[in-house]
Amino acid sequence: MTMRTKILIGAAVLAAAAQPALARSDDCEGNESLRLVNGRFHTMDARDSVVNSVVIQNGKFAAVGPHGMNEGDRCTRSVNLRGRTVVPGIIDNHNHIVLLGLRPGHDTRLENANSIAEALATLTARASQVPAGEWITSIGGFSRNQFFPDPVPTRFPTIEELSSAVPDHPVFIMESFFGPGAANEKGRDFFVTNGVPVGADGSIAAFGPSLTALFLLRQMQTLETQKRGLQDAMTYAAGIGVTTHLDQGGFPAVGDASDGAANFHKYRAYDSLRALLRERKLTNRIWINFLHLEEDPATPELQARLDNAFNEFGDDMVRVLGIGEFTAGPFFLPGGPSWQNGTRLVAAAGWRNENHSLSTSDFRVIIDGWQAVHDELVDADKPEGIANLRWVLAHVPFITPEYTEKLKALGGGLSVLGGWRWLTGSDAQNGPPFRDILASGIPVGMSSDGMQISTMSPWINLYYVVTGRNARGVPINAAQTLNRKDAIRLYTANNGWFLNAEDKLGTIEVGKLADLVVLSADYFSPAAVPDEAIKDLRSVLTIVNGKIVYDDRDGSRRDYWKAGLPQ
Ligand SMILES: [Zn+2]
Repeated sequence: MTMRTKILIGAAVLAAAAQPALARSDDCEGNESLRLVNGRFHTMDARDSVVNSVVIQNGKFAAVGPHGMNEGDRCTRSVNLRGRTVVPGIIDNHNHIVLLGLRPGHDTRLENANSIAEALATLTARASQVPAGEWITSIGGFSRNQFFPDPVPTRFPTIEELSSAVPDHPVFIMESFFGPGAANEKGRDFFVTNGVPVGADGSIAAFGPSLTALFLLRQMQTLETQKRGLQDAMTYAAGIGVTTHLDQGGFPAVGDASDGAANFHKYRAYDSLRALLRERKLTNRIWINFLHLEEDPATPELQARLDNAFNEFGDDMVRVLGIGEFTAGPFFLPGGPSWQNGTRLVAAAGWRNENHSLSTSDFRVIIDGWQAVHDELVDADKPEGIANLRWVLAHVPFITPEYTEKLKALGGGLSVLGGWRWLTGSDAQNGPPFRDILASGIPVGMSSDGMQISTMSPWINLYYVVTGRNARGVPINAAQTLNRKDAIRLYTANNGWFLNAEDKLGTIEVGKLADLVVLSADYFSPAAVPDEAIKDLRSVLTIVNGKIVYDDRDGSRRDYWKAGLPQ
């Protein structure tokens, strides 16, 4: 036994001896439980049980249903949900919450605004929470399409509209990765002074001008503003019921005005997350995939990552899961030498791997390439190949039944989304084929792919799955819709598999981590919530790890993003 071990054991004995004294001062300490009664808990368990009460203890569900209710236990706090509908905490298996947290200015989600007037009301409400003179921004995750039903032409808010909605703060809003954008008068004055051309109507052209504007705002950021940004992003997520994110990284930043909304510093991007973890200020679970893009066929960065980092490492709040959503190779082009090498390395290291598919052909290249790596391992006397590694193909708007079967045979899964197609989809750019995928029996789960080209709200994503309609109200995926229960199962029970955590997350069952969402209305009832109202659902009470992280039961919480929603 070393001296250090002796000291550690000594400390443990002292700590144990101190326990009774602590217990006497407050015998509920560490023993509190939370009892939620009179709800309609859709547990999403294998039997589709619906119960009316649960007990939460030490961050887990201790009782589900009428048993073990501990009536009258003075260490138990009881909350009457007054008949409200409850679902498991929503798991977003593919998004970019870290990038969202890094937005400069006071980021303002516009995804719930269905008109210019609602977008302006959202910005006004946000500005009322922010000291005058500080930037109000909205970067990515919205589209002009959502402000105007088909066939009314779309447009951004004008400089006059933005200036009268937000007179005392500079404003910059920008679509997608690269713009275009728009500014109010205060914003325009700053940009013009710094060499960014701004149109008479406040418009800022895509690429050069929009990205220079973004670069200028990023120059003003500090670790403190990045921490605030991530806290705002988590608060927004909790308010719409998202409790767990699997972050899929960002493109490696160059550090100049060529970087878009989805670029970040590949190492420093996680500083704010790490700081909030240390300070115990995380209100969502944020699990991480590392995105790798490099052209060198030897993929030295990916090699170093696999050599020096741990997969499946962390706790239930922050955990490194795997590699994704790219495994080396040039952007949008899987199949080349660096992608092949990277894929081999990830397989040999036994890590999870995720790639995205957007086109009518890329999924064939990826799945055939994964099959080749699998076959190489089998030939090398590793008979399981990649079959137990749960490799995931994401988005897959055009996946075919043939390739779904191939991936299923490789032990893989499909991550599907709705918000992206809702924002900008069309008759030609539609899918994914939800119905065909579900019928195939392959593991399938929902994600948002927010928040550059897509929205975060699971209710907007589910609206698209259930109706097949885009933001302009045009049906584009009508032959591939799902019913409401099948759809939300993809966001809850099914997503446990996508985090290697189906024993911990995704359903309301005894022993699982206590994450749940009390909804503003009954999602399961078309009478209470017509199809068009699905996208306006939100949380009135969100619990993560047994703790209340969002509470709007009395309707008094004036979150800026509700300005665009029916109250
Ligand atoms: Zn993505």
